[in-house]
Amino acid sequence: MRLRVPFGRSTRVGILLGKASHTDLPPNRIKAVLEILDSEPVLPTASLDFLRWTSRYYHHPIGETLHTALPVALRRGEPAVPSKPALHWHLSAAGKTVNIATLQHAPRQHAIMQALQAQPNGLDEAALRSIHKDWGSVLKSLLQKAWVKSSDVPPEAMERPPRSWQLNAAQQQAIETVDTQRGSFQPYLLDGVTGSGKTEVYLALAEHTVAAGLQALILVPEIGLSPQMIARYQDRLQAPLAVLHSGLNERQRLDGWLAARDGKAAVIIGTRSAIFVPLARPGLFIVDEEHDPSYKQQDGLRYSARDLAMIRARDAAAPILLGSATPSLESLRNVEAGRYQRLHLPARVGDSRPPDIAIIDLRKQPPHAPLAPPLLKAVEHCLAKGEQALLFVNRRGYAPVYLCHACGAISDCPRCDAHMVLHQKSGRLRCHHCGTDQAPPNKCPACGATSFIPVGAGTQRISTTLQQRLPKARILRIDRDSTRRKGSMEKALEQIHAGEVDILVGTQMLAKGHHFPKVTLVGILDADGGLFSTDFRASERLAQLIIQVSGRAGRGEHPGKVYIQTHHPDHPLLQALVEKDYQNFAEAALHERMETALPPYSWLALLRAEAPTQEANFSFLEAARQLASEVLDPQMLLLGPVAAVMERRRGRYRARLLMQAESREIMQAGLDPWLKTLQSHKSARRVRWSLDIDPVEVD
Ligand code: ADP
Ligand code: ZN
Repeated sequence: MRLRVPFGRSTRVGILLGKASHTDLPPNRIKAVLEILDSEPVLPTASLDFLRWTSRYYHHPIGETLHTALPVALRRGEPAVPSKPALHWHLSAAGKTVNIATLQHAPRQHAIMQALQAQPNGLDEAALRSIHKDWGSVLKSLLQKAWVKSSDVPPEAMERPPRSWQLNAAQQQAIETVDTQRGSFQPYLLDGVTGSGKTEVYLALAEHTVAAGLQALILVPEIGLSPQMIARYQDRLQAPLAVLHSGLNERQRLDGWLAARDGKAAVIIGTRSAIFVPLARPGLFIVDEEHDPSYKQQDGLRYSARDLAMIRARDAAAPILLGSATPSLESLRNVEAGRYQRLHLPARVGDSRPPDIAIIDLRKQPPHAPLAPPLLKAVEHCLAKGEQALLFVNRRGYAPVYLCHACGAISDCPRCDAHMVLHQKSGRLRCHHCGTDQAPPNKCPACGATSFIPVGAGTQRISTTLQQRLPKARILRIDRDSTRRKGSMEKALEQIHAGEVDILVGTQMLAKGHHFPKVTLVGILDADGGLFSTDFRASERLAQLIIQVSGRAGRGEHPGKVYIQTHHPDHPLLQALVEKDYQNFAEAALHERMETALPPYSWLALLRAEAPTQEANFSFLEAARQLASEVLDPQMLLLGPVAAVMERRRGRYRARLLMQAESREIMQAGLDPWLKTLQSHKSARRVRWSLDIDPVEVD
């Protein structure tokens, strides 16, 4: 239960976790609770157990873990009660017999009666207001005449026309497999290319879960929860739905959370943090696009929503389905080891041809052209056929490097070890890591020269260059800058679907969730960054990105073609993707991970430190290493300390110590006492530090 307690000169909301009958504290140091905010526990026991587990596993304080798990309104002490259900109005028996032609002299009553007659399920406030702004007074007179009744039960869902198509054999088999093993914990990997019908499998399984009187929790990546996606679920599931995402206000979030906890919502769809929602009758867990790195929280409680979903399913003795066109190597390894059962949807619905992937060897092309001539030609050809092209660029802005023409000095961020990116519209240099924004220099600070060249290409520059080459093409840019305004992404998607766009130029945002049936050509302009990164997961990410972006192309009657521009056409990873498929790449990549003893063949924890000086970081991490060798399992490998790849960020230096172990048990053993001594170590006072269990970004 939540309590209000005195804290310094103010008060705080706290959570009562237990009672003690004895304390060693002197009585004058103990304060009384000011108020008990809940009359019954705000979290069910199962949730509390799960959160305790989470706190132990990630070595994060239980208080902060609970704080992360509760909706903001509850953290602030607001009552845990749902909003009043919205009222709606419909005709009474008497109202139904009224001949509205007799209301000609009262046009407002006439309009509202007519609308109510046309809508037997009733109208809510918003609908009535759209008929007349004085709907309140009109309704009052209709209520007095007893022609109208109000109700707070949601109107019966409209009967939906049945699906015009049948689930295919692979879908049916996947659904049956899960259905026959319900009631016990069993993880599945639903592996199928984009458009193979995975979402339909989720929908069917969710329906069956609801029919059995249980709840289904469906997690999707932040970007995947588009209004279209929500509408699709709402449309198909004849059950009360709760949607939880970052676009909601506090009140809506609390209502969704309570509906899940109290069993009023049958299906809950949400992004990462929805994994903490309590469920009254959990029956099914689904993690869509399970490979997506956005399931890992990168600050505070650094949890993985996918991994926690596994724990919740286990505790609830329920099936859990991880779905992806490009499964993570972790999940593929779990299939190989027999821990997960693989369900496979082998082909796209209605079209068995996967897109054709071709490599453009940039070494043989003129330098500095963001689109090599063969790709440009392919784009022209695509447009001539009246189809759409999608160009993927991994950087927003105009040019990622702004360079002095005389001496070659590069404009760097004053606070980070990173180049400033030139943005065209504002004409300013911006750091994508800390947000520093400044006017470009008039004079080179190094040599005093006054002419500068933008080098490299971001989304803005690609769009501008393309527009010059193809003046008639309608080009739409999609990145974080162009979609900052609310509703702009939806508008862009509408334009694309309506065929009002010829070329889409965008970042990763384009790779997820959306289907673009008219896109037949995909260009990946620069694949090389992902091939030579220091992060061991970079090649996995690149492969996933290439396959995901490719999956946007060519659906139904339009086959797709994918071009990848690279300076390393012979790279084994690209070869595996082009000649075979993701599965083949994944096997090769897993083999590599095994040989280098990297996850999923080992377990990692990362101790990060940042401070105004690198010296402070190193003295802390050295001390940590020293202490670790005393308390941690001797089989734990300690790597570092080393400086982070981006050594300085937001004006602070960064360094890290990596820990690697053969098993989870070895990894976890000794972490608690180690952290405890670290906390009180004097070197810890000069740094900001954190521990990341199962880090996804090892930097
Ligand atoms: P995924 O989630 O794997 O990308 P979807 O479930 O979204 O695939 O399916 C892609 C499209 O094909 C959707 O429009 C869906 O309604 C349709 N679809 C799915 N299964 C079938 C089927 N068996 N027959 C016909 N259409 C289907
Ligand atoms: Zn910066």
